[in-house]
Amino acid sequence: MSYSGSPYGASTLLVIISSIEHGGLAIAAFSAARFAECAQAIADQAADLAARGWIPATSGNFSLRMDEVHVAVTASGCNKANLTPQEILVVDLQGKPISSGGKPSAETELHTQIYRRFPEIGAVLHTHSLNQTLASRVFAADQRLDIAGYELLKAFSGYATHDDRIVIPVFANSQDMGELAAAIDAYLAREPITHAYLIDGHGAYAWGASMADARRHLDALEFLLSCELELRKLRA
Ligand SMILES: [Zn+2]
Repeated sequence: MSYSGSPYGASTLLVIISSIEHGGLAIAAFSAARFAECAQAIADQAADLAARGWIPATSGNFSLRMDEVHVAVTASGCNKANLTPQEILVVDLQGKPISSGGKPSAETELHTQIYRRFPEIGAVLHTHSLNQTLASRVFAADQRLDIAGYELLKAFSGYATHDDRIVIPVFANSQDMGELAAAIDAYLAREPITHAYLIDGHGAYAWGASMADARRHLDALEFLLSCELELRKLRA
């Protein structure tokens, strides 16, 4: 899949007068070229994750930080296997849509809270794989899963040895994204979350400095969750 341009035309800088706030015009400017680059990367990533069966039935959502104040994020409910630029929106760091077009996913807030809190993070991936969903149910009672002793821990940025331990929090699911975001913020106020968390009966969020880092973290999480689930069966 390749995009010849963006839905915003060939201009390299797009300026949108998004709203009138506090008596003045709120002007949002972002690079159309940067949007096209992000839309392509999101579409490529989504197509691959769809092919793996990790985002069944239009689930999942993906985002990339475009610049200091804008994020490109998938729109609600679209088929992620073959995304078009019109199905990828520009929002600000509060999740407010800047571009016209589709509706932002309700879960956009869970992406933007990561970008607000971690300035170094450039990509967030949210998937609903079988292993992620099963692990979220199995470990929900503990509200966390500690993973240690695996060589693949080294796939997580900042982890240098199998002796390291990663803590994956498991949050209760909610249809109220404000409530869920508040629970994640409350957790983050107490202790850090390194690279990923699970939501009970729902799926996983993973992030990284780049799309490649976020995907490597998601792949590592997926493999380690499958190890932990298989171990439980073998030891039962
Ligand atoms: Zn979801």
